[in-house]
Amino acid sequence: PVDPTRSGGGSSEKPAYLDAGLPVEQRVSDLLRRMTLAEKVGQLTQAERAAVTDNPELIAESHLGSLLSGGGSVPTPNTPQAWLEMVNGFQRQALSTRLGIPLIYGIDAVHGHGNVYGATVFPHNIGLGATRDPGLVQEIGRATAEELIATGIPWNFAPCLCVARDERWGRTYESFGEDPALVSQLASYIGGLQSAGVLATAKHYAGDGDTEYDQTGGGNNLSPANQAFVIDQGTTVTSRADFARIDLAPFREAVGRYHVGSVMPSYSSVDWTEDGVGNPVRMHANAELLTGVLKKDMGFEGFVVSDWEGVQRFADPAEPTNKGLTAYKVRTAANAGIDMFMVPNNASEFIDLLTAEVEAGRVSIDRIDDAVRRILRAKFELGLFEKPYASPDNLDQVGSAEHRALARRAVAQSQVLLKNSRRALPLADDASLYVAGRNADDIGNQAGGWTIQWQGVSGDTIPGTTILSGIREVAPRATVTFSADASAPTDGADVGIVVVGETPYAEGFGDVGGPVCTWCSAPQHEEKSLSLQPSDKAVVDKVCGEIDTCVVLVVSGRPQVLTDQLGEMDALVASWLPGSEGAGVADVLFGRSPFTGKLPMTWPRTEAQIPINTGDRDYRPLFPYGYGL
Ligand code: BGC
Repeated sequence: PVDPTRSGGGSSEKPAYLDAGLPVEQRVSDLLRRMTLAEKVGQLTQAERAAVTDNPELIAESHLGSLLSGGGSVPTPNTPQAWLEMVNGFQRQALSTRLGIPLIYGIDAVHGHGNVYGATVFPHNIGLGATRDPGLVQEIGRATAEELIATGIPWNFAPCLCVARDERWGRTYESFGEDPALVSQLASYIGGLQSAGVLATAKHYAGDGDTEYDQTGGGNNLSPANQAFVIDQGTTVTSRADFARIDLAPFREAVGRYHVGSVMPSYSSVDWTEDGVGNPVRMHANAELLTGVLKKDMGFEGFVVSDWEGVQRFADPAEPTNKGLTAYKVRTAANAGIDMFMVPNNASEFIDLLTAEVEAGRVSIDRIDDAVRRILRAKFELGLFEKPYASPDNLDQVGSAEHRALARRAVAQSQVLLKNSRRALPLADDASLYVAGRNADDIGNQAGGWTIQWQGVSGDTIPGTTILSGIREVAPRATVTFSADASAPTDGADVGIVVVGETPYAEGFGDVGGPVCTWCSAPQHEEKSLSLQPSDKAVVDKVCGEIDTCVVLVVSGRPQVLTDQLGEMDALVASWLPGSEGAGVADVLFGRSPFTGKLPMTWPRTEAQIPINTGDRDYRPLFPYGYGL
């Protein structure tokens, strides 16, 4: 229902912005000049699905430009069909407004469309880093986009172009690796996503993987409950030259080569800035980096979307203990260059604050218009005005056989062989195998975080193959005994296969449990470590002690410290977080595919070497960057 009195022509004439034959810039200008301030501010606002599920009228009343599903924010039932109907329902609200501007729905499909039950879950980025294959990663981007489009979602908060420099970081697995050149190459993922009609988000701009371990988080205004996030919301201590070389480099590639549609700032900061009250300036408030470097120098023409509550996680000097939104925070972020505001649960409050700041002249209407233009441009280019609703015709793309085959190939390519003595691998097809370890038959553990739930969850959570079921499928002639805790007798087995490692986590430090470590001194944290847990060690000791040939697989999102157990193992494989297609692991174990993976991150020899990448310690790792037999 477009208001004909504002169409600029006769009442029967279609307004220019609805004319798909006109150039996008002309359509944007035409629409922009019809919009009221309320419509503009709404266009910049993104609420969480849970905030509108019970009152979808808010979408039209507030003229919301966007909605998101945060990690694990899923419809009931969690089926592709339910997603499609949910998104179409929200869209109907948006289209009922005076100007009928479609909303753009965003989600974290960071390793496939992992929130959706039945989707293909690809290896997390750290495993893709091990493949070093930009073409493969591009194909994965395309397949992910096809599954997103099938459920009506045209925007992905991926890829993370973080360069992980500290393995204590709980988002290490979201990184392609420690080397900016590798991360830049695998920005090809953006090309895959966007070629299939999904807007990509390069995140988190910049330095999220390169912050200093610091118990204060560098004045990041986190609530006590959120203190576990200090490592990814702290400060990058660096020179401008190193920051450009290490942390900004992948973003240059994303913007310059792949024309990424959106960029999400990091919660972190850089140490050469100061906010007036003694804290480094948070990236969400950093005009130099967002507007100066990203938009002006790099020529980024897309839009900047703030991270979850990112605008409230920096301090207001007048109210330093206020953890919520304030007028200062809203105007500072807007003036720094944020275009769309992810305000999951406080959209109305945000709208009131920003509107008042514009009316008071503290945020210029030009800045608002620039932000609205950037968002509308993306919506026109995605074709949302012409085709706002997803059709159910493509639902069979979700978890399709073709996508699963691609994921299985990616899993095989991501496996890194770190040790292979006495020709332990490949396994014989008719081997007698004793399979043990808590990650051998747990698809939730092998999928990791950002799967069905934000933090991920152990157990039988998604359809697919575990490593154990993959072994049975690939080698039907093998005799397989399975005992997760290795309590069953090992009698007569030729080869023991032990699958250990991490259980799911997302953000912060990651939940790794384990013995006391050297780097976790803060009282508010549980003692954590990257060493194998005692129960994992016990299974390795038992199986490797009793069976002649012993192969250990580590399912983890980051390097583990296992120097003390290495001597017991005949073969060692870094399996990363393979996702739904565990059969890809079996493919390399039985020689159906060769081992080609190379370490995207250094494996330290001791806990004391962590982080091994800072350059101020001796680089004497257990396995160096790039290693792989
Ligand atoms: C994460 C982002 C993510 C956002 C929305 C935040 O907690 O830092 O990477 O895109 O949530 O789910």
